[in-house]
Amino acid sequence: VYESKNITCGLAGSKLPDIPISNHLPLHTYCFENLPDFSDRPCLISDSDGTTYSFAKTHLICQKTAAGLSKLGIKKGDVIMILLPNSPEFVFSFMGASMIGAITTTANPFYTSAEIFKQVNDSTPKLIITESQYVDKIRQHGEINNPKLGKDFSVITVDDPPENCLHFSVITEANENEIPFVSIDPDDPVALPFSSGTTVDGENPNLYLKPDDVLLCVLPMFHIFSLHSVLLCALRAGAGVLLMQKFETGALLELTQRHRVSVAVVVPPLVLALVKNPMVESFKLSSIRLVLSGAAPLGKKLEEGLRRKIPWAILGQGYGMTEAGPVLSMCPGFAKQPLPTKSGSCGTVVRNAELKVIHLQTGCSLAHNQPGEICIRGPQIMKGYLNDNGATATTIDKDGWLHTGDIGYVDDDEEVFIVDKVKELIKLPPAELEALLVSHPSIADAAVVPQKDDAAGEVPVAFVVRSNGFQLSEEDVKEFIEKQVVFYKKLHKVHFVSAIPKSPSGKILRKDLRAKLATASPKP
Ligand code: AMP
Repeated sequence: VYESKNITCGLAGSKLPDIPISNHLPLHTYCFENLPDFSDRPCLISDSDGTTYSFAKTHLICQKTAAGLSKLGIKKGDVIMILLPNSPEFVFSFMGASMIGAITTTANPFYTSAEIFKQVNDSTPKLIITESQYVDKIRQHGEINNPKLGKDFSVITVDDPPENCLHFSVITEANENEIPFVSIDPDDPVALPFSSGTTVDGENPNLYLKPDDVLLCVLPMFHIFSLHSVLLCALRAGAGVLLMQKFETGALLELTQRHRVSVAVVVPPLVLALVKNPMVESFKLSSIRLVLSGAAPLGKKLEEGLRRKIPWAILGQGYGMTEAGPVLSMCPGFAKQPLPTKSGSCGTVVRNAELKVIHLQTGCSLAHNQPGEICIRGPQIMKGYLNDNGATATTIDKDGWLHTGDIGYVDDDEEVFIVDKVKELIKLPPAELEALLVSHPSIADAAVVPQKDDAAGEVPVAFVVRSNGFQLSEEDVKEFIEKQVVFYKKLHKVHFVSAIPKSPSGKILRKDLRAKLATASPKP
């Protein structure tokens, strides 16, 4: 029943026509394919000192890096780890590795030593490229002497190297003509992202970029959202990338104005910070033509708030998942011939892919407008989880459908709406309550998680960050929500906290909050 239902009903296609995928180029060739058309244009702009690299220069340093990595003994199929914030060196390392058929695993520099250790053990890199300040964390577990990692050159730093590390210039000083020839197959992996774990493909054709675009790259490139939808898409299109190492509202606004950012790729917490900050009005942001929000649901109130701040820009969402390679759907307003898009929608399915929504218990395909688990199939999805065939088989079924664990529906206009996640399913989508909470003027940020309840099974509990200088009691918050929702959605408890824990890509770490609830009541 399951199999036949897969094929017979409930499929959603893209609103946009498929594109031919005939010439399977390696990622770096694909990204730099049109280089002669924009070789002198700015490619990378670094926020730390404003250094700008043209496309020609960027390509040249990537080639030198490829030759340098090869000189250090890195070969096709070897893994290198990039443990860096957004920086030109991140780009040179990633593309350089691709040029010799090596695989990059990206890691968060703020990871603890144990988290780095885990990723090192799983991905077994031959080399780690990082900053000197993180070397101690790498060494704490003794990996530097780990035979898996090779000899003294196992760690390269982009700044002054501590003992037994090499400086990044050793690789970039190599002769670009000495890149060894490697034959790269379309099926060869190029990246091992650990946001969830997958390999990547090169393009998101639903996001139309022009060579005179400048993309804001403030989300960390060690997460696939930024690596793919900002860096790789911009390289391919000849658009510039403004690299920001960390998010700070004032700096973001100033740099956006100065470098005339035209495409802002953001996550809901960043939108929240902008919407709540009166500083936004004092900057000239007329250059922004597109705002793409992803990684987590963008509440309607937040979307409206941003629309009020920059009414001239097209705002829309993309829906991505590392395993999906990574984009499943994208706002059709971002296409070359923009189509209208609905508020709250995650857009239309990417080209060349099929999407279906299945019943949580039966696995049968559902009709339009009926919520269920979203599944996607197409040439862009991951190869699989590294060394874990069991997990791969539970995520990608034998017909090639990747099961996302997200609950959503497709409406009559083929637009995708995310309702929630299977694993976080409570009687209501937390996102809905969160959107209501942050619309309160005295609330700076909020998260909602389910708490076990004998009578109801689960009840919603809120974590709330008060806006600076505002008084707000638990009763105020409860009352505010109660007035706006049906009885079973009302909040059972409100905990005031100083910050909501979030991943670097902006997702609320609900399991941390659930763990907090399970152990003890958080301090007010
Ligand atoms: P990751 O693999 O870390 O990028 O996480 C992927 C997950 O992020 C998806 O399975 C969704 O649950 C969530 N997600 C991504 N984009 C959106 C969006 N626009 N709206 C709601 N959830 C999203």
